[in-house]
Amino acid sequence: MSYDKIEVPDDGAKITLKEGTDDELEVPDNPIIPIIYGDGVGSDVGPAAQTVLDAAAKATGREIHWMRVYAGESARETYDENLPDETVEAIKEHRVAIKGPLTTPVGAGFRSLNVGLRKLLDLYANVRPTYHLDGVPSPVKEPEKMDMVTFRENTEDVYAGIEWEAGTDEVEQVKAFVEDEMGADGVIHDGPVGIGVKPITEFGTKRLVRRAIDYALEHDRDSVTLVHKGNIMKFTEGQFRDWGYEVADEEYGDEVITEDTLWEERDGEMPDDAVVVNDRIADNMLQQILTRTDQYDVVATMNLNGDYMSDACGAQIGGLGIAPGANFGDGRLLAEPVHGSAPKYEGQDKVNPTAMILSGRIMLEYMGWDDAADLVRDAVEATIVDGLVTYDLERQLDDAEKLATSEFADAVVENIETLS
Ligand code: NAD
Repeated sequence: MSYDKIEVPDDGAKITLKEGTDDELEVPDNPIIPIIYGDGVGSDVGPAAQTVLDAAAKATGREIHWMRVYAGESARETYDENLPDETVEAIKEHRVAIKGPLTTPVGAGFRSLNVGLRKLLDLYANVRPTYHLDGVPSPVKEPEKMDMVTFRENTEDVYAGIEWEAGTDEVEQVKAFVEDEMGADGVIHDGPVGIGVKPITEFGTKRLVRRAIDYALEHDRDSVTLVHKGNIMKFTEGQFRDWGYEVADEEYGDEVITEDTLWEERDGEMPDDAVVVNDRIADNMLQQILTRTDQYDVVATMNLNGDYMSDACGAQIGGLGIAPGANFGDGRLLAEPVHGSAPKYEGQDKVNPTAMILSGRIMLEYMGWDDAADLVRDAVEATIVDGLVTYDLERQLDDAEKLATSEFADAVVENIETLS
């Protein structure tokens, strides 16, 4: 396929689906991978991640052919729009891509481009692994106990974006409908009101929970915890829990066991490789990740809970400079760090590229390049253990050396070369 403004690399090959599957990739050794640098510090961390991922690919006998695609400010400059169709098409067609952060103005202006991209590409699971790297300063005593992967639903709940602004005819119509026809009379205070609707569907819940359970089985994890506020929001969050358990009960046979049937029905016997599915109320879960960190493994939850939880987990293992993420669809992945565009640091070659690099690691794993993915992790860890870090970690460590974004990437590459 040719594009108007995207330059397709000459000698790379496309990642495709394995014949007869809708989710398994056929990855050549010279894949074309679209990259969006993004806004703000995206132009610092994007190239740094490319340098590291290139080195890991080379060390394992492969070569990535990058294809720059545009969204946000770079797209406004090139196309005069925020999210050009050909960016979405290019990512769809090449199946695996990586992006830096995109700025979303608060209040007026446009809706989040990140949300738009995830919706247009049907990337329904936002996946955030949180694990501690040796040497990274943490506010908790035993950060190494954290090794969780959060699956956050990406297309409904607050991301459905169904809400009406105070003072509009629409919001008054919704208010009248809720009060007069739906039995909620006297619940909403008088005066200006904004109203939102929070949809949680069986379809959206089940595909998310299925993905989390599949991940737990594939990666030898012990449990999947459904996190919800079903005690209060019975018909949305409570229903998420019930549909989640339905998937666990009905689709996996002996491989998956739910917590409440565990000991009674099995008399304490449990297959070694079984995954236990349990559930926790969201507020309780936020304290449990601090007090019983190592009891949690894979988490499946709705959009807003997932946002809070994964940031809280991220803080325990070193904060935004470290925390990686990716968005999964069927046979498709868009990796991206958890952090935003940190505009005040733009272009200063200063911020930590680890989150972007480790997002690239998720991408390599998804491509089946586990050797390259492990090399990236080990080399980043070795660099930090050596005390070579960016400003955000340096100020928390004794005897560390402060490196620029690009210098940190070069130090990681040196470690890749040493380790491979
Ligand atoms: P932010 O993550 O951009 O920055 C908050 C602070 O975190 C920064 O000031 C900095 O101190 C620190 N930080 C962030 N990234 C870092 C890094 N790599 N290394 C070291 N320190 C780092 O959050 P914000 O200021 O709330 O948001 C700025 C913009 O980014 C907003 O427009 C927001 O909508 C957008 N955003 C985008 C994404 C995304 O693209 N996925 C995610 C979050 C926020």
